[in-house]
Amino acid sequence: MKATLMYGAHDVRVEHVPDARLVETTDALVRVTRACICGSDLWPYNSMPASPIGNRMGHEFVGIVEDAGAHVRTVKKGDLVVAPFAWSDGTCEFCTHGLQTSCLHGGWWGGTELDGGQGEAVRVPQADGTLVALPVGPDHALMASLLTLSDVMGTGHHAALSARVQPGGITAVVGDGAVGLCGVIAARRLGAERIIMLGRHPERIALARAFGATDVVSERGDDAIAQVRALTGGLGAHSVLECVGHGEAMRTAVNIARPGGAVGRVGVPQEETIPDAEATFYANVTIAGGPAPVRAYMHELMPDILEGRIEPGRVFDRVTTLDGVPDGYRAMNNREAIKVMIEF
Ligand SMILES: [Zn+2]
Repeated sequence: MKATLMYGAHDVRVEHVPDARLVETTDALVRVTRACICGSDLWPYNSMPASPIGNRMGHEFVGIVEDAGAHVRTVKKGDLVVAPFAWSDGTCEFCTHGLQTSCLHGGWWGGTELDGGQGEAVRVPQADGTLVALPVGPDHALMASLLTLSDVMGTGHHAALSARVQPGGITAVVGDGAVGLCGVIAARRLGAERIIMLGRHPERIALARAFGATDVVSERGDDAIAQVRALTGGLGAHSVLECVGHGEAMRTAVNIARPGGAVGRVGVPQEETIPDAEATFYANVTIAGGPAPVRAYMHELMPDILEGRIEPGRVFDRVTTLDGVPDGYRAMNNREAIKVMIEF
């Protein structure tokens, strides 16, 4: 089969690899029908040291179960399924409390040991705790939105929950990538009255407004902080969704939260420390968040997609084939595309 490998910064290749196959009796074999490239894939795309081995890529996918081990009970051959960006057993202490990204027997896709979603097929460990069946066919009109349950919609939702978005409150979203845009959807869905999008790319801003953003701040750094403060009577936002991960975004986020407010961070941190510890201490700002347990949110968010209340699939503004994946990385890295979907 063919799959995507990254050999170093700006070195993504689609190559023949050994066919995915069942190993454990709790595995499923999934033939991928849709996948995508993630903003978090761009961190190694810009920084990975050259390697002769290559890392298998992709952690967001939808596909059809081709085979299942003897102990798999919840999905069967022929089911269309969506996979979360981390696999999990569904039964351990953390899974039963809805934190599947800390599963004691789970892990992450790709790397040098496991298949990734940007390939023709995937061996799915812990299939019962990982996969969720979709009640539609593989070419359903809402497939792009259903694919976002793998990561960005669930991650935006996690940012909103971590930032304690409440009905009637003011939410600010730092980052106009796919996760930030889904964060706008999530904040609106949870009842935020005002949603301030911090971003500057015109097409992304337009989508943010379509998703429910009421205000846009296109300045950066101290000017952005001043602008959000001005928009909130000098007080700051109740809830801030940090959807980028680098230090400047986090510094902005903690400085636009009002006293007693909360920052929900879902951007993978690119620095070891969180800025302005003293200021946030005196303001009683809660800083929460981490890798979203999107598996826990799939059943809650799916009806909103199927019944047309939310359209997170609009974040996909480019579609490619597997062979077009290297160019998809380039396009996302150059901000020519918000998010690239791969059709098989
Ligand atoms: Zn678990």
